[in-house]
Amino acid sequence: MEATIVLLGPPGSGKGTQAQRLRDQLGFAALATGDLLREARDAGTDLGRRAAECMDRGDLVPDDLIVAMIHESIASHDDEPILLDGFPRTVTQADVLVGVLEAHARELTAVVLLDVPDDVVAERISGRRDGRGDDRPETVRRRLDVYHRETEPLVVYYSARGLLRRVDGAHDTDAVQARIRAALAGASPAR
Ligand code: ADP
Repeated sequence: MEATIVLLGPPGSGKGTQAQRLRDQLGFAALATGDLLREARDAGTDLGRRAAECMDRGDLVPDDLIVAMIHESIASHDDEPILLDGFPRTVTQADVLVGVLEAHARELTAVVLLDVPDDVVAERISGRRDGRGDDRPETVRRRLDVYHRETEPLVVYYSARGLLRRVDGAHDTDAVQARIRAALAGASPAR
């Protein structure tokens, strides 16, 4: 069975950067719900229009929209190891993921938590200059609140299922990458 890894962590924890590296180095298909939503918004699809308002506020997009999107995305990578970046973000999504993976004859291999404190996140995002509309300081605060309230319960959820690998994400990109690879040793697609 191909590996299925979830990357969990607050906004600005470096999930996107690390996901790209894991894709390039280990051959994962990296599925980033934030990127998929931004593409949908830029393409002006129905999904994109419905998602845009929530994203601009720093709120989560409704579960039903996300679930349909991730279903499709996982279906198009059936024979590859998958890395999920930005999904699940709620306990409801995590519950749904179990069934989605089952439907594709997969199961979760591991969940990597990129642990980065709020002050480091705020500093990193304020230094980021890629012009994302949701990177304004008040929106970043909102995204962090939403993370703690809606997404952080997944840490306990996945710990209880023996899947969580906690990685200290407050280091430079190379050091964090090495920690992730160590955390995934034995759970990598090369196994
Ligand atoms: P970050 O992790 O830095 O906040 P993302 O690119 O992962 O950035 O997500 C940007 C926005 O996209 C989120 O603030 C949210 O509005 C929306 N989004 C992404 N993934 C999900 C998800 N799984 N459920 C609900 N909303 C999501």
